[in-house]
Amino acid sequence: IGIEASPEWHELGQPVLPALDPGGHKYSRGLVHALAGKMPGAIALSAKAAAYSGAGYVRVSTSRSIDGLPSAIVQTDTAEINDGRIGCLIVGPGMGDIPRVLTLALTSHAPKVIDADAITHLGEPERLRGQDAIITPHQGEFERLFGKLEGSKADRALEAAKRSGAVIVYKGPDTLVASPDGRLGFAPPAPAWLASAGTGDVLAGMIAAMRGRGLEAFEAASAAVWLHGRAAEIAGAQMIADDLAAAIPQALALLND
Ligand code: AMP
Ligand code: MG
Repeated sequence: IGIEASPEWHELGQPVLPALDPGGHKYSRGLVHALAGKMPGAIALSAKAAAYSGAGYVRVSTSRSIDGLPSAIVQTDTAEINDGRIGCLIVGPGMGDIPRVLTLALTSHAPKVIDADAITHLGEPERLRGQDAIITPHQGEFERLFGKLEGSKADRALEAAKRSGAVIVYKGPDTLVASPDGRLGFAPPAPAWLASAGTGDVLAGMIAAMRGRGLEAFEAASAAVWLHGRAAEIAGAQMIADDLAAAIPQALALLND
């Protein structure tokens, strides 16, 4: 499809995050609002990951109370998605076949991370037009949304970003981040222990925290992908997704060295 390697392509490096504002408050550090669905354990991982990634305030809208969430994460039964203070929404992890959760999210003007079942339920990439969205498909989700595109994984990622107008985090052992403006970042190698349930939900939360604290979409996705790989190295062999979320502060500490 004629997309050739360009200077816009680079390996993702250690991100530079804005310094913590000493006069900041919880909203200025980013309000992340996660929408629960059928399997709340997944969104709980996203919410935890957002909190450990430095979001000032993490809120989950859910119709039934979710066990095991830190008390700092607020559970609410009203959706509140038109709250202008929201820095980033998360929709999709554990959503299951409740597409009205996605429909609701798409009515919000807030930046959003769309993952998992919400990607599958989009149906048409054109529905992302005009949305300030980052989508995080693995191979199966990618093909369900975009069909089988031609070319290398990089070609396909850029084509998908152009068609949808969204930043694409095309996951796998060789994760790529693609922007509609042609920027493409490839993740440095990360431990294959990441191939386990829930690690993608953690990534969605990390991206939302970065976006919510004010990084632009491509930079937020790139920073989170880099940190996710480092958190996996810190969490080590046989890690499970909960360990990965808990390792995020240590991965963030690498940025201060
Ligand atoms: P998901 O497919 O949503 O469960 O997310 C899985 C996460 O693990 C994504 O961040 C993938 O990029 C990552 N991942 C999956 N398999 C591997 C692998 N073999 N090596 C490194 N990272 C992987
Ligand atoms: Mg997933």
